[in-house]
Amino acid sequence: IPQSPSGIDDSDFLAKLKATGAQVAIFYGSQTGTAEDFSLRLAREAKRFGITPLVADIQDYDMECLQTVAKEQENTVLLFCVATYGEGEPTDNALEFYNFLKDKEESGDDFDLTGLKFGVFGLGNKTYDHFNAMGMFVDKMLDKLGGQRITDLGLGDDDANMEEDFVNWKEQLWPEVCALFGKDPTDSEISFRQYELRPDLINKDKIFTGEPHFFGSFTKQKRPFTQKNPFVAQVRERRELYDDDDRSCLHIELDIAGSSLKYTAGDHVAVYPKNNPSLVEALAARLGIELDELLYLKATDEYAKKQTPFPCACTFRTALTHYVDICALPGHNIIQELVQYAQDEEEKSRLHHLVTKEGRQEFVKYIHDDLRTVLELTVWFVPELLCAGFKSVDVPADHLIELLPRLQPRCCHVNLIDEKVPVFVRRSTFRLPSKSRIPIIMIGPGTGVAPFRGFLQEREALKAKGKTLGDALLFFGCQHEHKHYMYREELEEFLESGVLSELHSAFSRDQQHKVYVQHLMKNNAKTIWKMIDAGAHIYVCGDAKHMARDVHRALVEIIKAETNLSTQDAETQLKTMAQQRRFQQDVWS
Ligand code: NAP
Repeated sequence: IPQSPSGIDDSDFLAKLKATGAQVAIFYGSQTGTAEDFSLRLAREAKRFGITPLVADIQDYDMECLQTVAKEQENTVLLFCVATYGEGEPTDNALEFYNFLKDKEESGDDFDLTGLKFGVFGLGNKTYDHFNAMGMFVDKMLDKLGGQRITDLGLGDDDANMEEDFVNWKEQLWPEVCALFGKDPTDSEISFRQYELRPDLINKDKIFTGEPHFFGSFTKQKRPFTQKNPFVAQVRERRELYDDDDRSCLHIELDIAGSSLKYTAGDHVAVYPKNNPSLVEALAARLGIELDELLYLKATDEYAKKQTPFPCACTFRTALTHYVDICALPGHNIIQELVQYAQDEEEKSRLHHLVTKEGRQEFVKYIHDDLRTVLELTVWFVPELLCAGFKSVDVPADHLIELLPRLQPRCCHVNLIDEKVPVFVRRSTFRLPSKSRIPIIMIGPGTGVAPFRGFLQEREALKAKGKTLGDALLFFGCQHEHKHYMYREELEEFLESGVLSELHSAFSRDQQHKVYVQHLMKNNAKTIWKMIDAGAHIYVCGDAKHMARDVHRALVEIIKAETNLSTQDAETQLKTMAQQRRFQQDVWS
């Protein structure tokens, strides 16, 4: 049983609540770190109000204890920051909790949460189906089991402005929580550090150099390779796919020989990115730090889930290059902390204004719409703005580093590709049919064509082994035929060899009116329907916001036109196909 420093069983939530005296416990269900980040922000704010918080990874505890918490800790508030992932699924770390609640829902067990005070903030994206399914489910279930909702469910939409949704939700939340504990909700100016500099803990023999988790894992490469222990792959080929001075799209090949990394056509390769060295240097100069100086940040709270924000000790260069996202858009929390460091009164009040209710619109315009990063806020000054930048902000480097979100691995694009890159395989649910003779329809404009190259290579290999191939249609689209038609030769070869039966290309900007993949699909409605009727699998990959929606609509139209079904029945047919994994989407925004 894991023990915390003070000897408490780390999986016993009730014991931990009692030992820490926590008044607010914040559970997170996080996949890429945003929900976790939001939980930490809530904890910091709670401290500011003089309320004791506890941040908890939802998977670390046996949630059966909720009933006892409801009975014995009636003054404790439980907050849940839970993200919805993929096709409406819970995040990996919240899966058990989801199943637990599902079980309570189905079994009708006498699980009574009367008295449990709770609040839920869901993180999702409206461009995907099942928007915030997990947040809604948790909120509904806690209420159904007798819990007392202290604030309305918050629904964060990453497609619009998650930060704003979060801030709006908090505005409702804190007055309620403060009232419970007799605190003043306006009294939140005190700064609170979650980590402190601890040079005394630096062990010169253990200095991290960018490893995501295990010390020395970049130099001593040991299988198996995972997200925490990535394989350092050699870049074998790097070439430009576009013939365009204004746009770039790179083809990158990684050498994974000797890694034993396994993947199936449709999986993603995830890459650990690095921040641009010249940006790192600009920030260091602004912060007045020596990049080669060593840094050890340690949690001030012995119960904190994370004792260091990232692997420590490391140099400032490593921290700013590998561990924190210096190009993130600053949330309210970062700006709020910067206020105290503004030496100039005018700057101080303008920064402060950005995080007040009255300054909300300006914040959205200045940070979110204009995509202004932390770097721009602190390093570059924008003279045309009301107040010429924030050059008087004298923030200590370690505090800024503490506030910045962790740099996340990327699946789709990387800013910088060096000679060697740490990589791992992220499993996807995008899969070819189990039998090669089942027909497939692939719709992938732009970079969405990537997995279909893999599918076609796979089918080519199956054909070489003597397998019979079903029909395969590909709908590809790009702006200009001569500039952006990536992998044209390869695709035409697949067509010639019969691995691909039909290739339809939509060049959107080569004529007066737009031609998109869905237009070509409608022109081929009869073929598409015949294939669907014969059991075809349909795949859509690429932009989630516009393309995937329009393609979905086109498919409904095709089914309607060819079968005389109503719109609703055609939608249901597509839904059923999705449940049978015959309609799959891998889309991003
Ligand atoms: P792209 O070159 O921007 O677009 C491919 C083709 O799709 C173009 O001909 C485009 O036409 C067309 N298109 C635009 N709207 C459409 C719609 N509603 N229905 C069907 N086709 C449509 O392709 P891309 O570079 O792959 O980018 C696509 C999107 O994915 C962009 O929004 C991009 O920001 C995003 N993306 C995200 C990541 C990531 O990692 N998150 C990575 C790559 C791309 P027009 O441009 O002429 O309208």
